[in-house]
Amino acid sequence: MREEWIEKIPESGKMMAANLHAVADLKYEEVDIPECGEDEVLVKIKKCGICGSDVGRILAHGTYHFPTIPGHEFAGQVIYDKTGEHTGKRVAVFPILPCFACDMCAEENYAECRNYDYYGSRRDGGYAEYIAVKKWNLVELPDNVSYEEGAMCEPVSVALHAIKKLEIKEGETLLVTGAGPIGLIAGMWAKSFGAATVSYVDIDADKITFAKSLGFEEYDGKSFVDAALEGTGASSAIAAAIGAVNPFGRMVLMGNPGRDIALSAKDYQNILRKELKINGTWNSVYASHDNNWKDSLQAISEGKLNVRQLITHSPSIAEAEKAVKMMRDRSEFYCKVVIDNEK
Ligand SMILES: [Zn+2]
Ligand SMILES: [Zn+2]
Repeated sequence: MREEWIEKIPESGKMMAANLHAVADLKYEEVDIPECGEDEVLVKIKKCGICGSDVGRILAHGTYHFPTIPGHEFAGQVIYDKTGEHTGKRVAVFPILPCFACDMCAEENYAECRNYDYYGSRRDGGYAEYIAVKKWNLVELPDNVSYEEGAMCEPVSVALHAIKKLEIKEGETLLVTGAGPIGLIAGMWAKSFGAATVSYVDIDADKITFAKSLGFEEYDGKSFVDAALEGTGASSAIAAAIGAVNPFGRMVLMGNPGRDIALSAKDYQNILRKELKINGTWNSVYASHDNNWKDSLQAISEGKLNVRQLITHSPSIAEAEKAVKMMRDRSEFYCKVVIDNEK
């Protein structure tokens, strides 16, 4: 949908952004509004999610170079397109910029591109008022999908990609380890594919309470399940998932490990004895024949997934640093934190 009202680019050529100058040095400051290249449009960012991965990026290990504006989960309105083709459109943005030259790109496996660029880690992202975005990365929002929901299209697509790998069938049971936003969205997807029950384990009791409020269950620690989605990257959770799945069960590993993974000989042997099918999952699919982003927006538009209920915090860009620290310290209960870029 094109919005009638299209904002003008500020004459000052300046915008406010949260700009990472060094590890743990996120400065709220004035920067230049980016210039659009030939194949780019200028997007006025409306909402930008703070990903769990941003917390590590900002406070622990940094971006690829400094300064970089973080944020890869954003949606907004195209306010400038030289050709006028996209001007006024409401869009989400696929954050990977593939090389289009490698063997993976040739098969449209863009998440596996051998030489990619990325909004919000390798180049500037969404903790800002404006961003120049390649047209190829724009995904138009259906009329009834809000910018907030558009900003959640990235985690929703990541969850969809993971769940599709588990091939959930009607009436099956799923265990999810880790009740963070992507784990919860994955549970919503699983239910939409017919899962009878989705149960969770998490070391944080508040997250389990939150999951239950969404209609999910707490894993009882002893039932067997047909499939498991591992969303923590922690050895103990991986071991729990291996123990919980039925023989010939399926597991998908999604959580990023914070340290080396160690499995006991018994747990490892369980993989063999049960003849488990274990898959990794990475990012999302953005191919012409199969596009998680379009499927995600359609499901949100049709009311199959209610992702809005996951948003617990909506700071301004100026408050981004405070929000990231809150997430690291878990000083408040949170699920999804989405920056309101117009606040
Ligand atoms: Zn993310
Ligand atoms: Zn490539």
